[in-house]
Amino acid sequence: MEASKFDRLEKLAEMVNDKINELFEDGEFSEIYKEIKNVAEEFNDNSAVSVEFGVNVFNSKKKNCLQTLSLALTSATNEEPYIAYGDSTPARYLVDGRIMKVPHDHCPNCWGDWGFKFKNKVCPDCGYELGKEVKVLLDSDICPNCEEGKITIQKPECDKCGFVADKTLVHWG
Ligand SMILES: [Zn+2]
Ligand SMILES: [Zn+2]
Repeated sequence: MEASKFDRLEKLAEMVNDKINELFEDGEFSEIYKEIKNVAEEFNDNSAVSVEFGVNVFNSKKKNCLQTLSLALTSATNEEPYIAYGDSTPARYLVDGRIMKVPHDHCPNCWGDWGFKFKNKVCPDCGYELGKEVKVLLDSDICPNCEEGKITIQKPECDKCGFVADKTLVHWG
């Protein structure tokens, strides 16, 4: 989706996340946690029980959903309750010349699942291809492959994973 719309969505996600963390720290979920533990113990068969909150957008034309927040109240056996996050970090792309932003494991065109784009260069859903209709937009020096090392336009090889930011696949913004 357009980057500005995604940013707007992230604001909502942040609001929800802050509120849930506030309630969590105030102990407002303690009864629910107790019940999660009770249910998990009754199952007692390696099942994990969680209660989830998400901020999602569904597009009826694309028939796909994008998620900007996924958090779960979980309680693995004998562990203190905690909040687990399941959403993916967002990434920016140039799609047909327009700036788009989606979670990094999704297609910026059709919103379908499309992970490891530098390895699997074609979206399995819509056929858009990295280096053709889609380019990864780099606006920081964080490696888009391992998200740990650094790359720059002068030194496009990652110092951690060896990934090289090929100019046909990325666009420096
Ligand atoms: Zn696609
Ligand atoms: Zn790297």
